[in-house]
Amino acid sequence: MTVFQHDVLVIGAGLAGMRAAIEAARNGADVALVTKLHPMRSHSGAAQGGINAALGEEDSWESHAFDTVKGSDYLADQDAVEIFAREAPGDIIELERMGTSFSRTEDGKIAQRPFGGAGFPRTCFIADITGQAILHVVYEQVLKLGITVYQEYFCTSLIVEDGEVRGVIAMPMITGDLAVMQGKAVIMATGGLGRVYAPTTNAIACTGDGMAISYMAGAPLQDMEFMQFHPTSLKDSGVLMTEGARGEGGYLLNSEGDRFMGKYAPNKFELASRDVVSRAEQTEINEGRGIDGCVLLDVRHLGEEKISERLWQIRELAIDLTNTDMVHEPVKVRPGAHYAMGGIKTDVDGAAPLPGLFAAGECANVSVHGSNRLGGNSLLDTIVFGRRAGVAAAAYVKQVASKSQISEAALAEDQNRIQQWMATKGSGGERPAVIRGEMGRMMREDLGIFRAREKLDSALAKIVELKGRFENVRLEDTGKVFNLDLLSIFELGGMLDVAHAMVAGALAREESRGAHTRLDFPERNDEKWLKHTVASRKEDGSPQLDYADVTMTKWEPEVRTY
Ligand SMILES: Cc1cc2nc3c(=O)[nH]c(=O)nc-3n(C[C@H](O)[C@H](O)[C@H](O)COP(=O)(O)OP(=O)(O)OC[C@H]3O[C@@H](n4cnc5c(N)ncnc54)[C@H](O)[C@@H]3O)c2cc1C
Repeated sequence: MTVFQHDVLVIGAGLAGMRAAIEAARNGADVALVTKLHPMRSHSGAAQGGINAALGEEDSWESHAFDTVKGSDYLADQDAVEIFAREAPGDIIELERMGTSFSRTEDGKIAQRPFGGAGFPRTCFIADITGQAILHVVYEQVLKLGITVYQEYFCTSLIVEDGEVRGVIAMPMITGDLAVMQGKAVIMATGGLGRVYAPTTNAIACTGDGMAISYMAGAPLQDMEFMQFHPTSLKDSGVLMTEGARGEGGYLLNSEGDRFMGKYAPNKFELASRDVVSRAEQTEINEGRGIDGCVLLDVRHLGEEKISERLWQIRELAIDLTNTDMVHEPVKVRPGAHYAMGGIKTDVDGAAPLPGLFAAGECANVSVHGSNRLGGNSLLDTIVFGRRAGVAAAAYVKQVASKSQISEAALAEDQNRIQQWMATKGSGGERPAVIRGEMGRMMREDLGIFRAREKLDSALAKIVELKGRFENVRLEDTGKVFNLDLLSIFELGGMLDVAHAMVAGALAREESRGAHTRLDFPERNDEKWLKHTVASRKEDGSPQLDYADVTMTKWEPEVRTY
C-alpha cells in the first residue's frame, strides 16, 4: 500500500485549490495538491469574462457588497459578503504583482467592464480569457514554492477517524492502485457540478466529486437547490458566450428583432442579474418569440476592432461551433446550466462543520452568492476564500497533534466497491452513460429555470429510480491503467447523491428566490424562507433537510428590480 503524508492536502488544482495551496505553504505547512486533471486543465481556465473588485475611484467595497447581496436575493450571509468585497481589491493587486497581465485603459490602469447586476464597471479582465491567464500565473507560484502536485490522482473518499478528517483515498490513474494520503487537514477545491445537467457550460470534469465525497463523510451541503442558468450558451454544445459580450454593449433580441430586456429590466436591460435575464429569455422562447428555442446575441454594432480585441475567443468559438461570425451575424443563444450556488457549508475561513475539513471555490458555500451569483464574483470567490482557507488550514494543522499511521483498513471500503464493479463486466447491468444521460435530461427538464411541484415530485421519483438502477451499473473496462470507465462510475455515484440533495431542496422551498423560480409559489417569502437549506446525507443516501439562519449585517431585504 502506498501512503503519502503531508500537513495539508488540497483536493483540486483550479484557482481555489492552487490559491489555497500557495497560502498554506506561505504559512509554513507542508502542502500537496491532489488533482484528477493537470492543473492547467481545470475548469477555471475556461472562465472568460472577468473577476470583480471595486478598484474605481467612484466605486466602493460597500457598493460591491450591496450589489452582491441584492444579486443573491438576500440569501447571502452578509458578514461573508463584507469580507469578500473588502478584500477583493487587495487580491487583484496581488494577482497583478504575481504577473497577471490584466487588460488596460488608455492611461494604463486596470480596465474594468460593466457586468450584470453591478452598479459600476468593476469586472477586471484579460480579453475574454481571464481564467486561463490567471490560472497560468497561479500555477507558476505553485511551481515556484515547490508544492507537491499529485496530478491525475482521482480522490475517491475522505478518511475520517474519531470525528476528524485524517486524509483522503486517491487513485493514481496511471496505476489504478488506491493510495492512502494522510493529512491533518483537507481543503476541498473540486469545483462545480454542472455535469449533472445535460447540456451545461461546464467542462467534462465538473462532476461535483468533492461535494459528494464530503457529503458522504458527514459534511452538510448548503443551498443546493440554487443552480444558475447563464443567459448566453450555445444551443447544442452548451458552450458559453461570455457575459462580457453584453458587458461590452451586446444586445439580446427576440424573433421580432426587439431588445426584449427593456420589458423585464427597464433600467439595466441586458445587464440585469443572470436569473432575471435567463427567466426573460425563457419567457420569450416559451411565448413563441424565440428562434429554434433560442434568442439572439448581437454584437455587430461594436465593430470588428473591438470584437477582435475584447471578445476574440467567443468569436472563434461561434465560428467553429455554429458557423456564425459575430462580426457579421447575431449568434443563437439560450440559458444553460452553469454554476452551483450551493456547496459544502463553510464559515468565512473555509472551515466545514467537520473538524479538519475545509472547502473553497465552487464546491463550497460560504455563502456569498446566496440564491444567485453575479458574473465575475465566482473567480473572486476562488481567490479570496481560497487564500483564507489556506491560512486557516495551515493554522489548524499546527494545533493538531501527530497521529498514528492510517492503516490499510481505510482502503477496504473503496477496494470493495471497485471489486464489486469489476465483477459486473459482461453482466446484464446498465452502462453508466445511460443512467447519466437520463439524469442530465431530467435535471434540465424538471430542475430548470421554471419549477413546479408536479415536476419536482417526478424528479425525486426519478432520482430514486436512477439510484436503484445504479446498484446494477456495469463496468466494461477492468484494466488498471487510466480506467476512465471506473472513474465515470465513481463520478456518477456522487452525482446522483448531489442531484438528490438539489431536487429535495427545490421541492421543499415553496417560494421563488434568485435562480429558484416556482411557478406554483411565484413570490419571494422572507417570512418563511429567508433561510439556508442544509442537507445532510442519511444512511440510505437520501438527504435530511434542516435550515439555518441567514447572517444580516447592513442590508434589509428589499423588492428586487433592475
Ligand atoms: C465556461 C465558464 C466560464 C466562466 N466564466 C467566469 C467568469 O468570467 N467569471 C467568474 O467569476 N466565473 C466564471 N465562471 C465560473 C468559475 O470559472 C468557476 O466557478 C471557478 O473557476 C471554479 O474554480 P474552482 O477552483 O472552484 O474549480 P475548478 O477550476 O473547476 O477546478 C476543480 C479542480 O478539482 C479537481 N478535481 C475535481 N474532482 C476531483 C477528484 N475527485 N479528485 C481529484 N481532483 C479533483 C480538478 O482536477 C480541478 O483541478 C465560469 C465558468 C465556466 C464553466
